[in-house]
Amino acid sequence: MEVIELSLPATNRLATEYIEGTFPVHEAFHPCSFEERLHELQKRTYARDALVHHLLAYHKQFQASEETIANIEKLRHRESVVVIGGQQAGLLTGPLYTIYKIISIITLAKQQEQQLRVPVVPVFWMASEDHDIAEINYVHVAQRGKVKKYVYSPLAKEKRMAARIDLDADALKQWIDDIFKTFGETNVTNELRTYIYECMATSKTVADFFATIVLKLFAKEGIVIVDAAHPHLRTIEREWFMTLAREHEAITSALQTQQRHLAQLGYEQAIDVSPMCAHLFYDDGQRRLLYYDDDQHCFYTKDGVYRFTRDELRQRIESEPQSFSNNVVTRPLMQEWLFPTLAFIAGPGEIAYWAELKRVFEHFHWHMPPIVPRLSLTLVERHIATDLADVQMTVAEALTNGTKQALEEWVRNNQPVAFDETFHEAKKQIAHIHEQLRQLGMQVDPHLERVMLKNAERVETQIDYLQQLITRRMLQKHDVHVRKYERIELSLRPNNMPQERVWNVLYYMNRYGLDFVDRLLHVDYRWNGMHKIVYL
Ligand code: ADP
Repeated sequence: MEVIELSLPATNRLATEYIEGTFPVHEAFHPCSFEERLHELQKRTYARDALVHHLLAYHKQFQASEETIANIEKLRHRESVVVIGGQQAGLLTGPLYTIYKIISIITLAKQQEQQLRVPVVPVFWMASEDHDIAEINYVHVAQRGKVKKYVYSPLAKEKRMAARIDLDADALKQWIDDIFKTFGETNVTNELRTYIYECMATSKTVADFFATIVLKLFAKEGIVIVDAAHPHLRTIEREWFMTLAREHEAITSALQTQQRHLAQLGYEQAIDVSPMCAHLFYDDGQRRLLYYDDDQHCFYTKDGVYRFTRDELRQRIESEPQSFSNNVVTRPLMQEWLFPTLAFIAGPGEIAYWAELKRVFEHFHWHMPPIVPRLSLTLVERHIATDLADVQMTVAEALTNGTKQALEEWVRNNQPVAFDETFHEAKKQIAHIHEQLRQLGMQVDPHLERVMLKNAERVETQIDYLQQLITRRMLQKHDVHVRKYERIELSLRPNNMPQERVWNVLYYMNRYGLDFVDRLLHVDYRWNGMHKIVYL
C-alpha cells in the first residue's frame, strides 16, 4: 500500500491547530514527552491486580487471543503503561475511523514499548454505556450511486445502553445479508459473511458483537478491550465514583474556568453542561443524568424520579456501583484513575473537549496524558485512482474541492460552442419580442398585464427547459466520463463527508481480503498529524 500525505483541516478549529502544531498547547494541555509521562506514572499506584483479574475474566468469554491475554497480564507489572483510546460500540465496528483509532493505539503502543523499554499495552475503551443508540445502529452503503443508511431496525427506537441490548439473531442476519448484497459477490464474500456470523453467534449484546469483531480483527496485535459498562469494572471504579460525587462542584467550576479561558482565546465551546450537572448518570434500565440542587442539598434526576442526599448517593454507589456511569467530563477522569495512561489517542472532537478539561485534571493534582491525534486516512481504490487520472484530477483536489466544480467546468468545456451565450441571447431577444406583444395587449385591455407577464415567465421557463434538455442529453452521451466524477465523489467524499466518517471496513474486506485490516496496520505511518492517502 503506497501512502502520500496531505494537510487537511480537521472538523473543528482547535483540533486543526492542535494537529498542525499552531495551537498554544500550554493553554489547554500539559504537553510533555513520553519519557516524562512514564516517569510521572511510575510515581502513581493503580488497582492493577483487580483490573487484570477483571480483564482476564471479561476476555475469556470471547476466547481472546494469547496475545491479548499476554497483554492483560503485562498490566500486573508496576512499570507497565497503556496507550488508550475509545469509541462507541458501532454495529459492524461503525465508520472506518474506529478502525483507524485502534490501529493508532496499537502502532503507538508498539513504538513506545521499543522506545521506552517498558511494557506498553494497547487498550480500547468501548463506550458501551452510551445510550445514544441512533449513532451506532446503522451502516452506510452505496445504492444506485448514492449513500444510503441501513438501520438495523430492532435498534431504531432503542434508548438503553449498548451493553444492555440483546441481539436479535434473525433480524441481524437479515440486515447483514442486505448489506452484503450491496457490496457484490467476490471470492471472499462467503468467508467474510461466515466470519461475521461467527462473531454474532458468540455475542449476546450489541456491545459484545462489537468487542468480538475487534478482538478477532486485532487478535495478533493483542488489543485489550475495556467494556465501560461492565458490572465488575464498576466494583473497581466504585471508590472513584465516590470521589467524583463528592467533587462535582469543583469539577464544574474548573471546567467553566477553562471554558471561559478558551472562549477568551477565541475558541468555540465543545462541552455543553448545565451548572447544576453532577457529571454522573444513574441507570435503572434508563440512563438519567444527575444534577445537584444547591438549596435542597441533594442530587436529583430531571424527571423527578430520583432524589438523593449526599449520604444516600454514597450508599447507592456502595451498594449498586453498576447503576452509575460517567458523562463526557468524568469519563476521562475515570480512565486516568484506572489506567497508567502513557498516551490518549483522540479524534478531532475529543481534542476539542479535552482542551476544556485541563483545570479539572489539575483539581485532582494530575497532568493530562499526552494527547495524540488518531491517524486520519483516505483509502483510494485502484479503479478510483484510474478515474482520477482519466478526469485529470488529483486526490488532493477531490478531497478539498469535491468533484462538482470540476464536472461543471468539464461540462462547460464540452458544450457546443457558445452554448450558454446563445441561450442567453435567445432569452434576451424573446423577452424583447414578448414585451412588444404585451404592449399590443395593453392597448386593448390593461387588465391583461398580469396574465401576459405570467405568459412571459412561461416562455422563459420553456427555454430553460430546452437548455437543460440539451445539457442532460450531452451528459448522457458522455455518461461514462460523468460517472467517473460521481464514482470518485461517492468513494472519497460520500455525502460531502470525509470517507472515514461514512464507509465501513467490511466493504473493503470484501474487496481486498480478510487480511485487509492487518495490511493497513502494517503500513509505515509517520506520526506527523498529516492526513494519509492510502492507495490500495
Ligand atoms: P460502481 O459500483 O459501479 O463503481 P457505485 O456508484 O455504486 O458504482 O460506487 C462508486 C464507488 O464508490 C465504488 O466504485 C467504490 O469505489 C465506492 N463505494 C461504493 N460502495 C461503497 C461502500 N459501501 N463502501 C466504500 N466505498 C464504496
